[in-house]
Amino acid sequence: MIHPGSCHCGAVRFEAEGPLRPVIACHCTQCRRTSGHYWAATSVPRARFRLLREDGLAWFRSSPTARRGFCRCCGASLFWAPEVEDRLALAAGSLDGPTGLSVSRHIHSADAGDYYAPEGPPPPPVPAPALLTGGCLCGACRFALPGPAGAITACHCRQCRKLSGHYSASFDADEAVLDWLGRDALAEYVTESGSRRGFCARCGGSLWFRAADGSFSLEAGAILGPTGGRLAGHIFVAEKGDYYELDDGLPQFAGWD
Ligand SMILES: [Zn+2]
Ligand SMILES: [Zn+2]
Ligand SMILES: [Zn+2]
Repeated sequence: MIHPGSCHCGAVRFEAEGPLRPVIACHCTQCRRTSGHYWAATSVPRARFRLLREDGLAWFRSSPTARRGFCRCCGASLFWAPEVEDRLALAAGSLDGPTGLSVSRHIHSADAGDYYAPEGPPPPPVPAPALLTGGCLCGACRFALPGPAGAITACHCRQCRKLSGHYSASFDADEAVLDWLGRDALAEYVTESGSRRGFCARCGGSLWFRAADGSFSLEAGAILGPTGGRLAGHIFVAEKGDYYELDDGLPQFAGWD
């Protein structure tokens, strides 16, 4: 079976020939800053993977032994490539569904954000930090703002799934009080609806989203340390991927509400 996939804007397209490995959800700090929440990926031997379009593809060396692939046009988080293995991890959210896959396990769960649990309901909020700091994976984009994050919303729309590589989690923020400590590599992707998404052009880190009406939200995974926030619910579950279940007991909405 051939599994087609792409970034959101289409500047990176690929296909992977099955069978694909079950999906592994990773909660490490790198995956959280790259995706903006946490990352979920399947894996395929390189011999069964083909790039069909790669003019948007950029690579960031995230560790001495691995690189992360993302789209430099839309910022979509796409690949994780270990140097010593002849395989490639593919973001499950980048696959054009249905995938027929399922999440088999969670790894680096101890590094999960304070606002959710890898499985089950989110823990009670931790004491609110007076100042939240955040940024991308490589550190070229850094910001601070008053805490806490408050209510965090998970979005399962097709756009969020393609861009994050899994699904998004973000909280409303006042852009006027956001203090940029560095944004030399900040890039913006404008969607068809006129909304904008901010990401790091060097590492692909997910940072923020600004709707066409100006409302602004920050990716919860971009925050370093406690957010003081808590996941409050799931929106656009009608567009949810087929490879994961929502087991946290929080309210689910087919669309915005
Ligand atoms: Zn793209
Ligand atoms: Zn960066
Ligand atoms: Zn969304």
